[in-house]
Amino acid sequence: MPHTLRPPHPLRPDDLRPDSPRLRPRRGTSRRLKSALLASAVSVCLVAASAPAEPLGVGDRLYPYLGNPGYDVASYELSFTYPGSNSKPLQAVTTIDAWTTTVLERINLDFAHGTVDSVEVDGEPATFTGAGDDLVVTPQKPLPAGSWTRVTVRHTSDPVSADGQDGGWVRTADGLAMANQADAAHLVFPCNDHPSDKAMFTIRITAPDDYTAVANGLPAGVDREGGSTTWTYRTQHPMATELAQVSIGRSTVVHREGPHALPVRDVVPTKDRELLEPWLKKTPDQIAWMESKVGPYPFETYGVLMAEASTGFELETQTLSLFEKDLFTEPGYPAWYIESIMVHELSHQWFGDSVSPRTWSDVWLNEGHATWYEALYAEEKADHTLEARMKAAYGASDRWRAAGGPPALPKPPQPGQKIGIFRPNIYDGAALVLYALRQEIGTRSFEQLERSWVQDHRDATATTDDFRSLAEKISGRDLDAFFKAWLYGEKTPPMPGHADWKTLAPTAKAPE
Ligand SMILES: [Zn+2]
Repeated sequence: MPHTLRPPHPLRPDDLRPDSPRLRPRRGTSRRLKSALLASAVSVCLVAASAPAEPLGVGDRLYPYLGNPGYDVASYELSFTYPGSNSKPLQAVTTIDAWTTTVLERINLDFAHGTVDSVEVDGEPATFTGAGDDLVVTPQKPLPAGSWTRVTVRHTSDPVSADGQDGGWVRTADGLAMANQADAAHLVFPCNDHPSDKAMFTIRITAPDDYTAVANGLPAGVDREGGSTTWTYRTQHPMATELAQVSIGRSTVVHREGPHALPVRDVVPTKDRELLEPWLKKTPDQIAWMESKVGPYPFETYGVLMAEASTGFELETQTLSLFEKDLFTEPGYPAWYIESIMVHELSHQWFGDSVSPRTWSDVWLNEGHATWYEALYAEEKADHTLEARMKAAYGASDRWRAAGGPPALPKPPQPGQKIGIFRPNIYDGAALVLYALRQEIGTRSFEQLERSWVQDHRDATATTDDFRSLAEKISGRDLDAFFKAWLYGEKTPPMPGHADWKTLAPTAKAPE
């Protein structure tokens, strides 16, 4: 998942070693790549409509059934009606505008946790059935390749999770929030649930008058009618389904200004507004700090959503990062640690959200960079040196690789394991790869690489190989052997410039 996993109890400063379990996690695909991903599945779409419906995917190594072939979503319009209780299903309408990339006799959507009342394709009723985690829709006539289509699904969205299916809606003390990373957006709404298909979002929430609703992007209207209010939000940049956020609660929206007049808005429980202000006011300086490292903030707004919920992680939902309120109010967490976690989620807005992973095996590009800026911030602001943290990570790296796989070849998630693919190998284990790269190509080239990366791939998706190519271009070096060893090796290679660093042998019980 895309998060900062924290231990169940507050950390003491001695506990803040890089091998303590702290996890976190990206966006769009080029047509060329998409065709490659889809090639194997295309033939499946062309079978006769009378064949049984079956779940399809875009061929992600880690989540084979996520996403669907044959179309590219341009926009989602999500409408939710909140009944005033977070244990009852919301009524919902999801409208998807998509471009077909092949002839489609059926349209597979990912959707697995709600009841579907009706489906229309281009305004005409369509038949539908479930297959695995897919909603399989059969329009009255096959859709031609290279055409626009609109699919409208009327459905419920159930906030009470099914056994063994965590993620999607998060029930808070006063309403709901969302945590869809990596594979749970389709527990909330029908979609093409893979980060390779980013799209624009309009999100509408109708709730009783005493609730406040906030979603990704900027407000686009508030309508009050007969005891309920409809809040509309719209993204100004494409977004992956896993990064959608909807907050419904007894909340206050706190506005302030960030660098270059960026609108910053935070969402907090109304009763805690004063208590949380000392943390909220840190965000503009943190944005300015990140801009000094990698360049302009990539979106139309930012802010933190402090939810009264026990998730065990924080999540970089686009333009509005989700945090557990307790992170800020429980005694025991040192201030520098809390701030570095705020910077972790903020840095994901560049690394993971604006530049999204093409496949989930590229997730080290999200977490490695977010961990890097988290650690760099702790070094600059609180004297916790990056070198000491990386030396400790080096010691643990072989164990992490044994437990979770090499950083760019993570092991698949285990069924029922909440941690999913978000293991230390893609956090400090991947930041260690960035450290080795900086040692190898020098600080100047490394910093230029970071800036160019988020600029070149802004509002798009990118792969591990794209990162290697850009590093080679900027440094003027052939880095093929370097990246192969550091990203795909079972053993951690020697650290350039630190011949004395040693890894500890993998033990029978590797840390998670
Ligand atoms: Zn993260």
